[in-house]
Parts: sequence; C-alpha cells; structure tokens
Amino acid sequence: MFDKILIANRGEIAVRIIRTCKEMGIRTVAVYSEADFRNLHLREADEVIPLGGARPQESYLAKEKIIDAALQSGAQAIHPGYGFLSENSRFAEMTEQAGLTFIGPPSEVIAILGDKIAAKAIAKTAGIPTVPSHTEVMASHEEASAAAESVGFPVLLKPAAGGGGKGMRIVYHQDELAAAWSVCQDETRKAFGDDRIFIERYIPKPRHIEFQIFADRHGNVIHLGERECSVQRRYQKIVEESPSTALNELLRRKMGKLACELARKAGYVNAGTVEFIMDPDGNTFFLEMNTRLQVEHPVTEMVTGLDLVELQLRIACGEPLPMKQEEVSFSGCAIEARICAEDPSKGFVPSVGLITRYGAPRGKNIRLDTGVCAGSNISVYYDSMLAKVISRGENREQARKQLVEALNRYDIEGVLTNIDFVNQILVHPVFAKGDLSTDFIADHIENSAIPQPEEYLEFTAVATALVHHIRETLVRDSLKPMRAQIGSSSPPETVYEYVAKSDGDIFTVQIEKGESDFDWLIWVNDKQYRLETPRFEFYRRRLKLKINDSTHYFRIKYQGNFIWIAFSGMTRLFEIYSPREWKLARYMPSPVKKVLDNVLECPMPGLIVEVKVRKGDRIYRGQELLVIESMKMESGVASPCDGYVDSVSVQSGDAVETGKVLMTFAL
Ligand code: ADP
Repeated sequence: MFDKILIANRGEIAVRIIRTCKEMGIRTVAVYSEADFRNLHLREADEVIPLGGARPQESYLAKEKIIDAALQSGAQAIHPGYGFLSENSRFAEMTEQAGLTFIGPPSEVIAILGDKIAAKAIAKTAGIPTVPSHTEVMASHEEASAAAESVGFPVLLKPAAGGGGKGMRIVYHQDELAAAWSVCQDETRKAFGDDRIFIERYIPKPRHIEFQIFADRHGNVIHLGERECSVQRRYQKIVEESPSTALNELLRRKMGKLACELARKAGYVNAGTVEFIMDPDGNTFFLEMNTRLQVEHPVTEMVTGLDLVELQLRIACGEPLPMKQEEVSFSGCAIEARICAEDPSKGFVPSVGLITRYGAPRGKNIRLDTGVCAGSNISVYYDSMLAKVISRGENREQARKQLVEALNRYDIEGVLTNIDFVNQILVHPVFAKGDLSTDFIADHIENSAIPQPEEYLEFTAVATALVHHIRETLVRDSLKPMRAQIGSSSPPETVYEYVAKSDGDIFTVQIEKGESDFDWLIWVNDKQYRLETPRFEFYRRRLKLKINDSTHYFRIKYQGNFIWIAFSGMTRLFEIYSPREWKLARYMPSPVKKVLDNVLECPMPGLIVEVKVRKGDRIYRGQELLVIESMKMESGVASPCDGYVDSVSVQSGDAVETGKVLMTFAL
C-alpha cells in the first residue's frame, strides 16, 4: 500500500479522501489555491502545498504544478477526486510518466470513454441499447437539420466531450435548430476546446439510473448496484438515492451485468459509473460512462457497507478486488442531498462570502461530507457545492424522514443555501412516492403550487409561539423580585394566549404548562398539541421539540416579536402578539417597498464576461444586457424595462458585487 498520496482537489471530496487515508494509515498531501488558504481540507491533511492563484487554471487545473508538488513531497500517487483534472487523460498520462500512480483508470481508457461518441460505440459492442442518435461529424446546421429529421424530434444537441450538462440544448422543432446549433457550438468550443456535437433523440420525462462498477488489474469486474439521480436542475443532480424505486431485482441484475460488460470491453480499471437513461415505459439506454469517483458515491457506501475510496486505493496498488459479485450485499436505503451556496429565490444565483455560523446535523444514520465550517470563505472561483448530507434507513421512507429532519437542523449563515429548497423536494408527496423523472423539479416544485401539510404550518406556529413565550416568561421572572409581593390582587395565570401571524395566516395559540417543566399543552386555533421539551434545547438557532410523540427540529431567529423559522421546506416570518398588542397592531399601516426600475443592480457576485449594449442603445424588457461568470457558470442579465441605456458603469473583466449598479436607463 502507498505511504503517502497527494489529493489534487479541494472541498468536501478532499476531506473525504483524507478520512479513508487516515483509517488506512496513509499520509496525505493537500494542495490549495490562494482563495482556499483557510479551507477545511488543509486542516485535515498531514502536509499542505500552495499551488498559486485562485483561478483554477493557476491552481487545481495546473498539471505541472500538481505533479511537482507530488514529487517534492515524496507522494507515490495522486487521487484526483471528481471534477478538475479527474477525467483529464493528459494529466493521468503525465502522472504516470513522472513515475507516480494515478488513482483511476489508465489514461487511454479515460480518453476513449471521455468521448461520448466513442463510448456509445463501445456500449453497442457490449450489447447495450443506446439512445437513437446521429454521431457523424456535421459541418453546418443544414446538415444537422437533416440529421435531426432522421433521428426524430425532439432532439438533444450534445457536445461529444461534454460534462456537467454544459452546451446541451433541447430542440423541439426544425425551425429552432439553426439558433440552437449556433449557441451549442459556441458553448461547446468555449467549455471543451473540442467543437464536435452529436444529435440524440430527446427522451421526455426520463429517469437517470447509474451503476457503480469496480474493475481490478486482474480482469475482475463487479458492480455495486445502482443510484437513481433523476432529481436534477439544469442537468445537475440534487438528490440521489440507492436503490432506485424504478428497478426490480431482475432488471437490476440485467443492467448491472451490462455495465460490467461495458467496463470489460473498454479495458476498464478502478472505479467507474455507467449511466443509463430510462424512458417512461421502462426501457433503458446507455448514456455515458464516468471514469472517476462520483459526487453521489456515499449512497452506494451506505447500502453496501463498503468504502469506495479504500477500494480505489487497493486497486491502484495492484490488489485484486476483495470480493466476487455474489458477495456484494445490499441493505436498506440511502438518500443524499447536495447542499450548495445559492439563492433559490433569485433563480439560484451563486451566493459567496464568509460562513459566519455553522451548525451541522449529527445523528446515527446521518452522514455529513462537508468541505466547509464556520469561517470558511466561499468564493466565486469554484463550484457552489458546500456539503452533502446522506441518510440511511431500513427503508426509503425512514431514510427520507431522517434526511428532512437533518436538513431542518442544518444551520449555515453568511451565505445563502438551497437547504430549504432541497427539503421542499424531500417532503413533496410525489417524491415520497418515488415517482421521479428529470422533470420532477420543473413539474412539481418550480411551476406548480407545492402542497404543504396543514400540520406543518401549525407546527411552526407552535414553535414560534413557544419560543416567544419562554423568552417572555424569563423576562417576567427576572423582574419578579422588583414587584410588590403584598396585596397583589390577580391570581397567577396558567394559560397564556398569543396571536401568531405569518403572511395571511393568523393563529390563536394557547400555551399551558404541563405537569413537569418540560411538558406543554398547546392549542392552535383550538387544535390540541402535546409537547415535550426534555431540556428546552434551543441551541445555536436550532430548536428541538417533541410534538405528539415525534421529534422535529426547527431553525429559528428572533428579533423582538418577529420570529423567522425554517421547517421541512417552509420558511416563514411570524409576528407574535399578546391579545392586547394584537388589537393595536391590526391598525398599523404596512410598510411600502419602493422599487426603482430604471436601474440595473447586479444580481450576483462574479466577473463581467461581456457587456452587450452601449450608452444610447434602445433596449427592451427581458433583453440580455450583459453576461456574468460566477462559480463556473455564465448567466445572462436581462433588462428590467423598455427604454434607452443612459449609463454603463462596468466593462468586461470587472469583478462585481451583488447590488452594484451596472447600468441606468432612460425610460
Ligand atoms: P453530462 O456529461 O454533460 O452530465 P449526460 O450525458 O450525463 O451529460 O446527461 C446529463 C443529463 O442530461 C442526464 O442525467 C439527463 O437528465 C439529461 N439527458 C441526457 N441525455 C438525454 C436524452 N437523450 N434525453 C433526455 N434527457 C437526457
């Protein structure tokens, strides 16, 4: 086994790889960029080596620098993690040429499978059905039109060298093809430096199902079952699980066998993932093969009990696979949620800054793979994923409920996150049924009203009123010694009443102390709830309550009688009043928010890539005015109005903050 390895990555995956190395007694070398000098992976590693600038090209993508760092530190191997150089065949080759081991497949195999067209050809030889497609090189959009016609609309334009969903375009009709072709070509050239595009039939409402495989250098190949990753946004996975609700044992065995066959045909070694797409009739087709450890590998670890990084290290050392296919066993169900720094209320624009508070979920069946902690700096240079929370249950429902509660108590402040958005997915009845497709988020979360159990809203009224009550009581009690004790006429109150208001919902809440200090009876609009608060735990913004025998967690922030609460996908602001205050509060005018519409404010932090208009130009509402790059994504910024450009205060290359005025308009 290796004595020392270098991890050519950052964030949660670097931390995760270091964990296994520690368990195996392997020393670790971490590398980092200027932007990451405080990153968590540096604290965990035995040695750290700086690479240089914050831009990936100057650090995590700088092949020579990383190989030099490995040689200089005396590491024998490089683990590339995922992303960055993990699927770069040139880097794998350079690593081997430097006399080091690349922990992954041989460079030629990475090169072939990284080309989706070549991979499809291998899949065909392995007898795996592929999506109908046209894979010959097309010189013009006219040729592409003819090809699309023969494949049959709708079609998907795909970069051959693609990854991360970049450049892909769905085309429903012939007349949209020319425009989509030119955009796809543009993005493909920029992102991959290889402008080959192919055309594939677009499968409506598919499921994404992938198989984890492992191959050693002795010709053994096994699979570790499937992961379903259908819950996606813009082709990016958000929630993953194993096993999939779409497979039965027969289909699992058949697909697993095909995945192994593909690996054999490709001369594969180490960990890999064979991705399939399943149409609504249950037909499955090969999509692509990923030649690295996947982000979502923990769900496989939790149902198989295996450590995938350990297997990778052993195979890289030349050891044979420690088990045969029949010896791989599966137990229970695991679901993973990806937590990203982004603002779901503003179209998921990246959120950057310093993490000022950090409360992590813990629990027997909860695993947290994180790359951040309090004090971490989230910059615009890298992708926005901060951590993954994984829950394991005896069955899917148990895993799902545990994950919801884990996210209820995951408190990250300083940057905005998708935690509550992910919980909206997990509590949705259609997700709970396991009725998934890659359109799930568009169909059920973004473009339709989300059904919210009445009870959940009442729970938030209970929690906020109780926190308010306990705080009021503490204040009252602390003032007691100052009140006259003799001659007090009114008997002590036993039931306290409050009015809780949130958006248009108004609740009357009555709170009565039970037999012990930790029991409560609470009525919300006359519905009774029994509460237990063994140790009233309101710690670091998190509140734990046992309501009618089940335990729930809430995230709460309060200021005066305003209380913000997050619970199971809901985020609400409550106002709590005593009945007397409520009578008065009802007559207060509500504040009016003034919105300026002749000013374009920067919606996210990032770098200006292109300014598309000049002073004096006529512009229309919705027109793209400039392009901003942030966390590896380019986003267009649209005009908020019709009018003329009055002034432009940025140019390409400028770094900008949220809220900076980018342009003004004459209306
Ligand atoms: P990338 O390598 O860029 O991630 P993939 O080929 O893995 O691209 O596809 C990513 C996602 O795009 C899939 O999980 C699926 O949601 C969608 N997708 C890919 N091909 C098709 C197709 N032919 N029909 C429908 N959706 C597809």
